Amino acid sequence: MSIEEKIAELRQQAEEMIKRHADDLAELNEIRVKYLGKKGEITSLLRGLKELDTDDRRRIGMIVNEAKGKLEKIIADKNEKLKSDEMRSRLEHERIDVTLPGRKTWRGHLHPLTLTLNQIKSIFLGMGFTVEEGPEIEQDYYNFEALNLPKDHPARDMQDSFYITEEILMRTQTSPVQARTMEAHEPNSPIRMIAPGRVYRRDDYDATHSPMFTQVEGLVIDKGIRLSDLKGTLELFLRKIFGKDVGVRFRPSFFPFTEPSAEVDISCVMCHGKGCRVCKGTGWLEILGSGMVHPHVLEMSGYDPKRVSGYAFGMGVERIAMLLYGIDDLRLFYDNDLRFLRQF
Ligand SMILES: [Zn+2]
Repeated sequence: MSIEEKIAELRQQAEEMIKRHADDLAELNEIRVKYLGKKGEITSLLRGLKELDTDDRRRIGMIVNEAKGKLEKIIADKNEKLKSDEMRSRLEHERIDVTLPGRKTWRGHLHPLTLTLNQIKSIFLGMGFTVEEGPEIEQDYYNFEALNLPKDHPARDMQDSFYITEEILMRTQTSPVQARTMEAHEPNSPIRMIAPGRVYRRDDYDATHSPMFTQVEGLVIDKGIRLSDLKGTLELFLRKIFGKDVGVRFRPSFFPFTEPSAEVDISCVMCHGKGCRVCKGTGWLEILGSGMVHPHVLEMSGYDPKRVSGYAFGMGVERIAMLLYGIDDLRLFYDNDLRFLRQF
């Protein structure tokens, strides 16, 4: 085979390969290296020229260089084409379809317990109450003693509380905030407050119990506060939250920190007093504990029961939220299941 034939064959071979096998830039580069690289077949031909005599060297050099230039051009063109194909397919692939509907970002919202608590707060704020807060890890003194529950009191069961030391525990009620607020005031100065917050008791975790729940307690102290003030305020509160037609009744009860004491019931919000599963057939639902502040409790916080009197009350926020929203399992409030929470 003459050298001209050899060159023609290489050229044809290379062009054929580029046409058929250079499907992407990497493959094209492989072909380029095979023919035009440092050890490529055409490069070797050029290198071999120096073995020839002057005339042949010129003639064949021209042919090889021409073939080389042609091939370089073909490769450069193919390179351009592959690049633009690649770009086109990438654009196609990554195209943003502006006609697609936007992806909705979820906006958080308030938890049903917070919603209920806010409603309770807003009603009492409207009646001139202040909102007071206190520590959840509390001293035994404020949690029990200042509320007329001395250490040997039967109503004070160690089994019911989470003690941290002998003298420190997770508060079992928000009433300690009442004693703290009284102490922070000038003795006998008027108080009209609610104390919302979390409280802790050793309890089961089932549909109606939880070792942690939310309470709102209230305290009003002033000159001449009477049981009728308590009744009027709580009736108004219950009608504002459960609707103006809700029935309200007071039942005598006992609490160590109030005297007299009363449980407050509302007519069943499910059956409107006819009797159902929720009210256990009675037509009434227990909703609040209340009473006139025990003189001893006033004294312990530096108030004079001969000059001022007051009333106190307490309620569970979960219970109110369950009745307001028709929720039958307390645990739903704490499970953080979005399928539940998104309904509010
Ligand atoms: Zn009922």
